[in-house]
Amino acid sequence: MQQKLNDIYKSVGISEEVLRVGNQLEHELKERFLQFDETAEYNQMKVLHAMQKNRVSAECFNFATGYGYNDLGRDTLEKVYADTFHTEAALVRPQITCGTHALALALSANLRPGDELLSPVGKPYDTLEEVIGIRPSKGSLAEYGITYCQVELLEDGYFDYPAIEKAINEKTKLVTIQRSKGYQTRPSYSVEKIGELITFIKKIKPDVICMVDNCYGEFVETLEPSDVGADMIVGSLIKNPGGGLAPIGGYVAGREDLIENCAYRLTSPGLGKEVGASLGVMQSFYQGFFLAPTVVCSALKGAVFAASLYERLGYPVIPNCVESRHDIIQAVQFGTPEGVIAFCKGIQAAAPVDSYVTPEPWEMPGYDSDVIMAAGAFVQGSSIELSADGPIKPPYAVYFQGGLTWPHAKLGILQSLQQLVDAGVVTREQLQNL
Ligand SMILES: *Cc1c(COP(=O)(O)O)cnc(C)c1O
Repeated sequence: MQQKLNDIYKSVGISEEVLRVGNQLEHELKERFLQFDETAEYNQMKVLHAMQKNRVSAECFNFATGYGYNDLGRDTLEKVYADTFHTEAALVRPQITCGTHALALALSANLRPGDELLSPVGKPYDTLEEVIGIRPSKGSLAEYGITYCQVELLEDGYFDYPAIEKAINEKTKLVTIQRSKGYQTRPSYSVEKIGELITFIKKIKPDVICMVDNCYGEFVETLEPSDVGADMIVGSLIKNPGGGLAPIGGYVAGREDLIENCAYRLTSPGLGKEVGASLGVMQSFYQGFFLAPTVVCSALKGAVFAASLYERLGYPVIPNCVESRHDIIQAVQFGTPEGVIAFCKGIQAAAPVDSYVTPEPWEMPGYDSDVIMAAGAFVQGSSIELSADGPIKPPYAVYFQGGLTWPHAKLGILQSLQQLVDAGVVTREQLQNL
């Protein structure tokens, strides 16, 4: 079998030495991988139970068109999401175009002129700056007279409780908490930590709405923020809960009245959840959600595998290889442009789609430096699929995430190492010493 594996890896461009290092590392990570498998097993049961309880049937996959009244598949899926996340209701729609849209929807549906939005966890995800109006933008919450307040994090990346207490006032209507660090250097927060923060905030102001940006966090743990007091959780279907199959979509799950507001905002006052045909995407939504726990597990294995490998080679990695995981993002700091570029080339070369193209750094709109991106995805821009990107500026870090299957995530990392070796960034000596 080993010879067979060597041969097949060789045919996709992996040398025996790189494979040896990878296999040795995989062996050492057995215990850690087992923990991810256990979480996946639990979450798989959670999803399955919700599907069985709501009597998901073949009719749910019917192609609904037009107004979409009585779209059984859509309505049932929303119950499946709500039951999985232990919420009263959910809105899960292809008409929600992405994560940013889902977040903008949840905010604009539940805030009114004169209300204040509070982020007690520092700066929110980049795209939300324009939604909120931190950076002036057409249609922002600021244009509608909604103010914004931000409490910076402490040095250690955690919550400044006294400052948060001070920031909560009679106008504070909604608190937004981002679970994943996204592309910042602070830690991603465990569900437990988020729960402590929500408890603290509700003690000060019981009726404040606590929303969690759950992007990249779904199914990483056995609990979701909705299990620890969040009134709404929000995410993208081309990340974790889409399982790699959903071709578009976003969700908001939470308290009935808040979800109702979201529905009226998404479609129209008076219409709400009743309209919005699902246009044939339901089977992929259901099947993707069904697969999501094990897909997230594969992505987590890939993240820890990369962390361990590159930490051993002497590169700073966030999170490090022993830390507990709260999202699927892994950062590796290469310190040189060559490192970032070689890494991304490896991820691209491992892709099932567009493996033959070579990614190059380019001047992307909205970024203050060149950025290199690697993605060979079935769904454009999908970041539950193996993907990486790195801004070409100090500290020359690459952010990588996803992997629909563990063998593919493994190949991606091995391919990145192979590229680094071939480019002379990692020496053969370093490799032999691993
Ligand atoms: C990806 C992401 C978003 C935005 O989602 P898009 O689908 O890219 O619009 C928001 N917040 C976090 C933490 C994210 O990771």
